[in-house]
Amino acid sequence: MVPVRNRAGRGALAIAIAPFGRGGRVAGLAALARIRPGAYARSRNFLDGAVSRLSPYLRHGMLSLAEVRDAALRVRSRPEVDTFVRELAWRDYYVRVRAALGDTVWNDLEAYKTGEPATAYAENVPDDVAAGATGAACIDGFVRDLVDTGYVHNHARMWFASYVVHHRRTRWQAGASFYLRHLLDGDPASNNLSWQWVASTFSHKPYFFNRANLERYTRGTYCATCPLARAGCPFEAPYDALAARLFPNGQRAVETVVTPDLRVPADAAPPAPDVTDGAIVWQHEESLSRDDPARTLARGDAVFVWDDEARARDPWSDARTAFVREALDELDLAAIVAGDAIEEVGRFARARGATTIVAVTPVDPRLRDVAAGLARSFDVVLVPPEPFARLDRSVDLRRFSRYWARAERSAFPHVRPLELGIETG
Ligand SMILES: Cc1cc2nc3c(=O)[nH]c(=O)nc-3n(C[C@H](O)[C@H](O)[C@H](O)COP(=O)(O)OP(=O)(O)OC[C@H]3O[C@@H](n4cnc5c(N)ncnc54)[C@H](O)[C@@H]3O)c2cc1C
Repeated sequence: MVPVRNRAGRGALAIAIAPFGRGGRVAGLAALARIRPGAYARSRNFLDGAVSRLSPYLRHGMLSLAEVRDAALRVRSRPEVDTFVRELAWRDYYVRVRAALGDTVWNDLEAYKTGEPATAYAENVPDDVAAGATGAACIDGFVRDLVDTGYVHNHARMWFASYVVHHRRTRWQAGASFYLRHLLDGDPASNNLSWQWVASTFSHKPYFFNRANLERYTRGTYCATCPLARAGCPFEAPYDALAARLFPNGQRAVETVVTPDLRVPADAAPPAPDVTDGAIVWQHEESLSRDDPARTLARGDAVFVWDDEARARDPWSDARTAFVREALDELDLAAIVAGDAIEEVGRFARARGATTIVAVTPVDPRLRDVAAGLARSFDVVLVPPEPFARLDRSVDLRRFSRYWARAERSAFPHVRPLELGIETG
């Protein structure tokens, strides 16, 4: 393996040790062997519930949604495992929406249903929130989790997003950017669309919560020590009183936003690409497994590029960089380079006399641009990732329920033979 070369001369990539757990497929499979899908449905909303913590592995293609689903179905059958598989499906859904919209996921997809126009929301996350210094033990604790570990439980993400958008009247985009800078699983698909769901720009109504809800699912951990106490708690109220305070103009849209067309065609049958010997493989940030479909198809040398443009637009924390770097260590790559991805992958292919470049079909628009740029000089073969579900008809992706109505049946296939020893949950 070639060491990281930083052509821009910005010095070696300084990497901190990720506190989450190692990156890479080996660690991902170990985490997969510990999932407890049987306990998931009844406990997942509790901060100490049986959640999998697999999201960073899924985000970077170290594991696939299909293999996680299959692993769950080997230890528990339906309907016990349905809730877990349905949550996996949310990722599949959001990735499909992102693939359809590209960077439009940064726009309000619908109007806020908060009785306020978009202009009523502040541009930036307030300093005390970003510093974890609001005085509310829960909110400050969630910021500490985010910054220190790169992982936040789903319920805490919802509470935090709701606080930022509805209590502090801040644009969801600002909160989403703040999250993407720190999350190990940071992904504009699940992240932006979840922030929009909380904000109500991709849902029917705003999400908000009260102290009793938070106290229950955190088992009182934060409330017991909170300096604000009940009297100063911004969440201490019955729901109707909170709604009146947060949305004085009612929960309705006061402006019009035209939702982009989200009707997508049925999934095409997977192509059977024919790759000649000597093709090289471009492994990108969505496909960091030695077993991914591109590596399986083409046996030639593989390259990864730390893409300057992508990281300038979407900077990662040191912990995230370390997590990805640990995955790269397992990939037996012929080169890891830093620079412009089109130039570097092209240079790598030319040096080997290759005319064909194989990669997993990317979702991120920047990675798609790289593939398109390479296609000007090479045969680029894009291989779809292993499918989680198959849409047999055209679907309007404006709501998860519409997607799930078409996807659910195919999301529960016959399970592959046992490959992993998994504890029952
Ligand atoms: C404001 C906000 C921001 C978020 N940002 C991201 C993000 O950047 N990246 C990301 O992967 N997820 C994001 N999520 C979704 C969800 O919170 C995480 O996927 C989940 O908490 C990861 O923890 P886990 O692996 O233990 O999940 P589990 O509960 O064990 O679920 C298993 C897997 O299913 C998928 N999943 C579960 N719930 C969801 C969901 N609601 N939406 C989408 N996929 C889901 C994830 O891939 C997850 O790893 C966000 C949610 C909110 C409310």
